[in-house]
Amino acid sequence: MKVTDHLAAAKDTLFSFEILPPLKGRSIASIYAGIDPLMEFKPKFINVTYHREEFIYIEREHGLLEKKAVRKRPGTVGICAAIMHKYDVDAIPHLICGGFSKEETENALIDLHFLGIDNVLALRGDAVKSEANFRAHPEGHAFAVELIEQVQGMNNGAYFTEGQGQDPTNFCIGAAAYPEKHFEAMNLETDLHYLKAKVDAGASYLVTQMFFDNQRYFDFVAACRAAGITVPIIPGLKPIKSLAHISFLPKFFHIDYPTDLSKELLKCKSNAEVEQLGIEWGIAQSKELKAAGVPCIHYYTMSNSTSVRQIATEVF
Ligand code: FAD
Repeated sequence: MKVTDHLAAAKDTLFSFEILPPLKGRSIASIYAGIDPLMEFKPKFINVTYHREEFIYIEREHGLLEKKAVRKRPGTVGICAAIMHKYDVDAIPHLICGGFSKEETENALIDLHFLGIDNVLALRGDAVKSEANFRAHPEGHAFAVELIEQVQGMNNGAYFTEGQGQDPTNFCIGAAAYPEKHFEAMNLETDLHYLKAKVDAGASYLVTQMFFDNQRYFDFVAACRAAGITVPIIPGLKPIKSLAHISFLPKFFHIDYPTDLSKELLKCKSNAEVEQLGIEWGIAQSKELKAAGVPCIHYYTMSNSTSVRQIATEVF
């Protein structure tokens, strides 16, 4: 079932979450161990992230270095199929531009379609560690909007390799949105301009980057509506879990902590204290968002569902 149909049918705020494929070498049991404790909150869909290759350098004879591509977290499509089979819940694979030609994207979409997967979250992806800036595949897409156009084209029976008149796919397409703006955007206005382009191209709902100040989300939704973006905007929340997160999350995800939260974080002396604060903050954020009638709250578990479970117990 499509995410938009789940949202339309919902009588109250839905619960959803996102998982990462396990590191190569670990079994799918580690995925189930993260999902099982959250199933009692009846998620209608579960997102599975996609991680592209990273490059390592292997030393060869005479000081030569061999560049080798490795994927540390393969398995997105297989995990989606396994989740749908085991839990009878929709799974949403993340699809990225980075590292894919248009033909490879088309073939991946055919796999998803044949597996009965109705939803994709279409993203550009970030630069790999060895690149300063994101570089598109020479025969791929430079921005998420182009990927959305390709998926929507297939929904209209237009295949990249075969042309028009093919059996249409029927994907519900989601896209990413940034209440604190995407870090490469000149300003919020240009980011909204490109966000609207993604919706106009076929994205029928949006999921936000994590934020810790609900006002940023409320203001962002208002700005989207003023810019003519009318689709559902699902807030994404991440419970802070460790002392390392305090600087990692702002650095990696380009987000700010509100002053009230940063003051409390400064008092924390241990991971356990941060984790407890993250749960309490997540409960307060979630309750306020739910009271405001958001369509769904999407939790970034980052493969650890204990905090999300405690939040959901209080909120759903
Ligand atoms: P885009 O929408 O393409 O935007 C990227 C930047 O380019 C923005 O600054 C935008 O303003 C600008 N822009 C857009 N279109 C144009 C244009 N036509 N011309 C000029 N500028 C333009 N990454 C992963 O690798 N795997 C994942 O599974 C993953 N999941 C994510 C899930 C969510 C909910 C979110 C919020 C992010 C996720 N990411 C993931 C990270 C994402 O790939 C990065 O944030 C990436 O830098 C941007 O992706 P995007 O789809 O928003 O890009």
